[in-house]
Amino acid sequence: MKPFTYERAKSPAEAAAAAARTPNAKFVAGGTNLLDLMKLQIEAPQHLIDVNNIGLDKIEETPDGGLRVGALVRNTDLAADQRVRRDYAVLSRALLAGANCQLRNQATTAGNLLQRTRCPYFYDTNQPCNKRSPGSGCGALQGYNRQLAVVGASDACIATHPSDMAVAMRVLDATVETVSGDGATRSIPIADFHRLPGDRPQDDTTLRAAELITAVTLPKPAGGTHLYRKVRDRASFAFALISVAAIVQRDGSGRVALGGVAHKPWRNEAAEAEMPRGAQAVTRKLLAEARTTEQNAFKLPLVERTLGSVLAEAKG
Ligand SMILES: Cc1cc2nc3c(=O)[nH]c(=O)nc-3n(C[C@H](O)[C@H](O)[C@H](O)COP(=O)(O)OP(=O)(O)OC[C@H]3O[C@@H](n4cnc5c(N)ncnc54)[C@H](O)[C@@H]3O)c2cc1C
Ligand code: SF4
Repeated sequence: MKPFTYERAKSPAEAAAAAARTPNAKFVAGGTNLLDLMKLQIEAPQHLIDVNNIGLDKIEETPDGGLRVGALVRNTDLAADQRVRRDYAVLSRALLAGANCQLRNQATTAGNLLQRTRCPYFYDTNQPCNKRSPGSGCGALQGYNRQLAVVGASDACIATHPSDMAVAMRVLDATVETVSGDGATRSIPIADFHRLPGDRPQDDTTLRAAELITAVTLPKPAGGTHLYRKVRDRASFAFALISVAAIVQRDGSGRVALGGVAHKPWRNEAAEAEMPRGAQAVTRKLLAEARTTEQNAFKLPLVERTLGSVLAEAKG
């Protein structure tokens, strides 16, 4: 076991300041990802800052008709909130498609966005992995990559982002709010929050060192029919092979984001103009730059068929 120190912060400012003054510190929220990674010695923070007592556990209405979801709101509470079920049903559905009840009771909004990839080589410390150990190589590129990315990958990493919730946040145009140790705040559009791997796969997001997520803001409701369809190897308690989050309006226009295909929730607003023409036209544009392996090429027709089924369901 690697020794580490621990403190319980009492406010967001205190937590961010503690992270700024302590080298190699990490926030811990529900702990459902971080503690697993520490046990496997994939993450080895020297200091843990427990953020469970800093508030930020409320869902509040914003002046412009949206919702502000505190960073510590548990996945179960967010999925069950009446306003979310009514106006942001794609989010509720995505949350309920993730993990299991016990995990959702513990997992938080911020922690879910920041959970790390499920690439098997990332979890095996005997294998090369540029994300875990920059410069060591990528075991998955020539190895077992059936579950990994088909678009936006690089020669350094073809991992996917595992969150269901983040895909719904992307289709809803959410904004991530943060505070830093010096008190400075930022609002980061979700489109710019998760990164593609490029030559720095170790950085999953654009969050800066010691920056604390305080909330995720949802704009006023977009209306339409909200659907989230997750395709996985087992019917429950499994990560997505691919997933589709869609908001479809009566005239057939709408928005769509994909999970399980890239290092970040995948959305291309230009492809959405094709929605009235059907799933094939949208998929062609959405995945125009796809680069598949022999093992994961099945994801392209799977996206098209799943999107087709989602659009048909939206039409009723
Ligand atoms: C068996 C299993 C199955 C799962 N299945 C699914 C699934 O199907 N779909 C899915 O989407 N997820 C799934 N998950 C992942 C689960 O949703 C995440 O582990 C959970 O959402 C992480 O939230 P947490 O609060 O526990 O994060 P933690 O483990 O506490 O933290 C995760 C990361 O976020 C950072 N962090 C936490 N809070 C903040 C903050 N406020 N500001 C800045 N950084 C912060 C931590 O430092 C850490 O790096 C599964 C997990 C397990 C163990
Ligand atoms: S795909 Fe990414 S996470 Fe997986 S082994 Fe390669 S570098 Fe590591």
